[in-house]
Amino acid sequence: MEEEGYITPIHIKDYIFCPSIFYYKHVLGIGEPLTESMKEGVREFIKDSMRYQERETLLNQRRIRVDKMLFGVTVSSRKHKVVGVVDTVYWSKGKLNVLEIKTTESNKLFPDHLYQVAVYALAVEEEFNQPVYKIIIFYKKSNNWFEKRFTNQMRNYSVKLVLRIHEIMEKGEVPEPRFSAKCRSCFYKRFCYGI
Ligand code: SF4
Repeated sequence: MEEEGYITPIHIKDYIFCPSIFYYKHVLGIGEPLTESMKEGVREFIKDSMRYQERETLLNQRRIRVDKMLFGVTVSSRKHKVVGVVDTVYWSKGKLNVLEIKTTESNKLFPDHLYQVAVYALAVEEEFNQPVYKIIIFYKKSNNWFEKRFTNQMRNYSVKLVLRIHEIMEKGEVPEPRFSAKCRSCFYKRFCYGI
């Protein structure tokens, strides 16, 4: 699905999680072997991605009156050179919203997940020629629903992130590793620290 020179929201998610991971994966092309929990996640994603009905039920449970809903839509933005398959877009009272269902559990909204969906929203706006009102992330296993208005501030920040990713991809800049708790279980730590 990737088009020449286009980035996907996965690039954004990896970059926010750790710029060094982004660099190893997407600039150097060093893939991470799938762990058992990742494989489980992929299996769940494949099962889950077939459940259009489940999205309808979820929105009904939230008492959201949906005028129209689309599921598994490929969206792209020529302006920002972004492409991806968005989980769900729906219109409610004429407003356009983007919903991403994570099959995992979480009691908090992770910034990498938030901005992954924010970048989908940029492409959705261009695809449907309408501003996105809200972005929503639902963690299915813990039944946690997080929604944010897609404000100009978030839109502008998302555009900056996209520009930054394009810049790194084009120039191949090496980010400085930033040590954190994430490093302990990271597959790439031998590249960052030689351990
Ligand atoms: S070891 Fe730490 S800094 Fe290096 S890629 Fe992994 S998470 Fe990022």
